[in-house]
Amino acid sequence: PEAIVVSELANRMAERVGDVVKSLMQMGMMVTQNQTIDADTAELIIEEFGHTVNRVSDADVEQVINEVQDKAEDLQPRPPVITIMGHVDHGKTSLLDAIRNAKVVAGEAGGITQHIGAYQVVTDTGAVLSFLDTPGHAAFTSMRSRGAQVTDIVVLVVAADDAVMPQTVEAINHAKAAKVPMIVAINKIDKPGANPDKVRTDLLQHEVIVEKMSGEVQDVEVSAINGDGLDDLLEAIALQSELLELKANPNRAAQGAVIEAQLDVGRGPVATVLIQNGTLRQGDIFVVGEQYGKVRALINDKGERIKEAGPSVPVEVLGLNGTPEAGDVLNVTSTEAQAREIAEYRSKAAKDKRAAAGAATTLEQLMANA
Ligand code: GDP
Ligand code: MG
Repeated sequence: PEAIVVSELANRMAERVGDVVKSLMQMGMMVTQNQTIDADTAELIIEEFGHTVNRVSDADVEQVINEVQDKAEDLQPRPPVITIMGHVDHGKTSLLDAIRNAKVVAGEAGGITQHIGAYQVVTDTGAVLSFLDTPGHAAFTSMRSRGAQVTDIVVLVVAADDAVMPQTVEAINHAKAAKVPMIVAINKIDKPGANPDKVRTDLLQHEVIVEKMSGEVQDVEVSAINGDGLDDLLEAIALQSELLELKANPNRAAQGAVIEAQLDVGRGPVATVLIQNGTLRQGDIFVVGEQYGKVRALINDKGERIKEAGPSVPVEVLGLNGTPEAGDVLNVTSTEAQAREIAEYRSKAAKDKRAAAGAATTLEQLMANA
């Protein structure tokens, strides 16, 4: 893995790029100014030019994270990531379960026993879909506020016997703010009092115009209880996904977002990570939020150990030094020193920020009490 472009290094040291290239040649490295060199080599050069090495700063963290700029030809199609949102009791959990149960082949290793906060299904037409098993606005917004936009498509569940309710409107607003396309799943159509058209007209008031009302938002009638319409819903998602032309580069250092994490008694800190770009492999060294580690094992949504996980694959990661938080971003780094330095830098920055916030409140309290 690379660390810094030669010209950029020269720039940061305020040295002539030709001199840096020459210096690298003297060290036996034939590189041009547009090539990248690893952090250790960069460090030698920095010392060579009499500068002090201050490896970790905001800029360096950025550098590590944006290390490789993907070229168009390196990008390959990736599965969509779907979040189910909607008002309480409209059937989010039931729908997630119904999709999982319908699409997980009976007898498949591990079955559906494992719960890792996300799962993948394959539709009858062969499309792979990744579902985030964390329905609820809290998860969606807290992830977003931490800078992790993981969802490509929102499925808005609206119960046909209840129509649009306050949390339906919240979900619409979240999806719009995040610029994530929506598909409306009109659920509970098996119920005697079901009125799907009321759902469609209610949605009009919130500027969601479904296809049946001559709009562009796909709407599908479903029943999470008897399974009606589930395949139609999956096909609607696959269609929406094709329109989005989602792509990633599987051949680069992995980047992912933590979906959930906990300290497991037997296994230590465990994080479920949704890979967003690149491929994560056993043995990879990484930084994730304020934690770092080396991948000891990867476990998929079926509870099977796997050697690697590519784009849009949800995977449990073992081998962390501590427990990260949902929404933290995972980045593979070249060296353990680099991962540790970035984690420590972030940890210190967060501590300073908390201390500053603490000092501010104390001051406010003093003023208030004066
Ligand atoms: P959530 O709060 O959105 O996750 O909703 P749940 O999935 O927990 O469902 C709330 C209730 O509605 C439960 O009692 C479900 O059994 C019921 N329910 C969910 N989907 C359907 C459906 O399609 N038809 C019927 N009749 N009941 C449903
Ligand atoms: Mg639920």
